[in-house]
Amino acid sequence: MIFRTRFAPSPTGPLHLGHAFSALTAFDMARAAGGTFLLRMDDIDRVRSKPEYETQAKDDLRWLGVQWPEPVMQQSRSEARFRAALDQLNARGLIYPCSCSRTDIEAAVGAPQEGVPTHGPDGRIYPGTCRGRSMAAFTAGDAIRLDLQKAIMAAGSLPEFTETGGRFEGTHRLDADDLLTTVGDIAVARREMAAAYHLCVVVDDHAQDITHVIRGEDLFDATRIHVLLAHLLALPIPLYHHHRLIRDEAGKRLAKRDDARALALYRAQGKSPADIRTMLDLPPA
Ligand code: GLU
Repeated sequence: MIFRTRFAPSPTGPLHLGHAFSALTAFDMARAAGGTFLLRMDDIDRVRSKPEYETQAKDDLRWLGVQWPEPVMQQSRSEARFRAALDQLNARGLIYPCSCSRTDIEAAVGAPQEGVPTHGPDGRIYPGTCRGRSMAAFTAGDAIRLDLQKAIMAAGSLPEFTETGGRFEGTHRLDADDLLTTVGDIAVARREMAAAYHLCVVVDDHAQDITHVIRGEDLFDATRIHVLLAHLLALPIPLYHHHRLIRDEAGKRLAKRDDARALALYRAQGKSPADIRTMLDLPPA
């Protein structure tokens, strides 16, 4: 079986122990399977992405012993692919422009109702204010959203995906009610950005022929969105492996800006790559 996986950090801060765990897990799994490990820079957010973080990330990964073939794919250079995917969704009438600001959305959702989720894997569940607007009315500065109800209708029978490890091992079939109540109309493109994370990750994983998506279990919940988008775009659905998260002493997941656990800091303290593996409970290289 072909095994191609990737590590896809967003260069918006220094890599920390959580990133090291993710990269090493994917690298070790690819090596054990005789497969390929790729690096991708998810730098679609041009405001927050910085070249110096990218350089530092590659340096930290090389130091850890992670190897990848060049060139490294950069999401910011994939705009044509994202536009083609948006055109495909538009041709089926599944997307609409959205001019709502965060404040507009908060004002439209009103008071929370008992038992009704307010947030999903794409953040605040969108109340649908702009649903029904035509893409012909798209204005610069608008976001673009997927009309989930229409997308579900267009999908026919909803797809399933296979999780190969960790807490969620097994086959998971998407469920229309679950998607409608806990996900909603996700953004597929954001203000001033060619595309939004969920669309980018699906399109680029396909562009890189990824067969195994290996990443932290914080993204398990978003996988339903990725599988639905892949299905709508007639792309193959990869296998998924969501690994445990690295937490701090208080049990909190390490955040992007958790500079206290930046790899660069451990390096400066004289730790070795083997020490990092030990700290992460990973077998030696
Ligand atoms: N670029 C994403 C992040 O840094 C990860 C993408 C993915 O693994 O799906 O959170």
